[in-house]
Amino acid sequence: MRVIVTGGAGFIGSAVIRHLIENTTSEVANLDKLTYAGNLESLASVETSPRYHFYQIDICDAQALDDAFCAFQPTAVMHLAAESHVDRSIDGPSDFIQTNIVGTYNLLEATRRYWNELPSDAKINFRFHHISTDEVYGDLDGTTELFTETTPYSPSSPYSASKASSDHLVRAWQRTYGLPVLLTNCSNNYGPYHFPEKLVPHVILNALAGKPLPVYGDGSQIRDWLYVEDHARALFEVACKGIVGETYNIGGHNEKRNLEVVESICDLLDELVPLALSNEGIRTYKELITFVKDRPGHDRRYAIDASKIERTLGWVPQETFETGLRKTVQWYLDNDQWWQRVLTGDYRLGRLGTDV
Ligand code: NAD
Repeated sequence: MRVIVTGGAGFIGSAVIRHLIENTTSEVANLDKLTYAGNLESLASVETSPRYHFYQIDICDAQALDDAFCAFQPTAVMHLAAESHVDRSIDGPSDFIQTNIVGTYNLLEATRRYWNELPSDAKINFRFHHISTDEVYGDLDGTTELFTETTPYSPSSPYSASKASSDHLVRAWQRTYGLPVLLTNCSNNYGPYHFPEKLVPHVILNALAGKPLPVYGDGSQIRDWLYVEDHARALFEVACKGIVGETYNIGGHNEKRNLEVVESICDLLDELVPLALSNEGIRTYKELITFVKDRPGHDRRYAIDASKIERTLGWVPQETFETGLRKTVQWYLDNDQWWQRVLTGDYRLGRLGTDV
């Protein structure tokens, strides 16, 4: 495969690229604008591979997309580029509308222009894989209901509404133009190289710095947690074996209350980096937990029914929440250079290397 990955310098996109380079023979082009969330240092382990190419491109720039498609000649597109942080979408929705909706529209059109010119065999085998979120389904009241691929859309935040819009565009491009698309909607990811504004790394790094560990409301919101490397494997399975026009939900079978997640991280840190006795009287990291005003429109519970991808494509997550979280905490302990450079902003230096 010759795969264009959009947003490949982000958290999940970089895991997908590392998976493609390390475990497949695919040729990969990373198309990324390098917003604050893009970090090429997350790709250090694969950047010297002759199968890896980088194009610094905004997906809202149609000409730049045409040039990259023409230069790289992809057989598939995996579309992950997005504005992804719910709190930022509440503070300023504009970038979310621009990248997630207009950018996806631009990418669909660039793909269609390129795909229309392909010979018929290549046209049939081409895939456009759109990566989306379970947040498009809104939230669940009870404790047993699950999101399936046919759950009606009911997004709550500017972020999830913009992702829902992009999903509709992708499906319409298949119905109207016959573009061979695949969609996946996944639950909350966690793992290595996660930007520190998100819950899991934020808690790990605040705890290590002895800072408060903020928990929204009473911490009873429930999320399903998926280890990012399990997700990257699932995405490759879907891109290779998924049925055109189908949607696959991807989840980790790990429903946890936010407070439980924070407490589990504290337990791991208590074991791996015990607090010194002299430390201001604090004996466990849990004493740093601080409840803060809830986010407006905060969804109560997300839970994914991932049985379709398991049944039809044979994918199952390899990590439980316990094993995945332990690996994640250990990764942050072992890779302080990566996150120190994110916290100081130095990761944004020297980001102009590009193939075009
Ligand atoms: P991220 O914020 O870590 O990375 C996004 C990447 O997209 C960055 O590298 C950024 O530079 C790039 N980007 C942003 N705007 C761009 C533009 N206009 N042009 C080109 N590149 C641009 O996001 P993530 O957590 O890796 O999420 C990837 C995808 O998965 C997103 O579509 C997101 O909606 C979806 N998703 C994420 C989660 C999660 O838990 N992180 C869960 C479900 C779905």
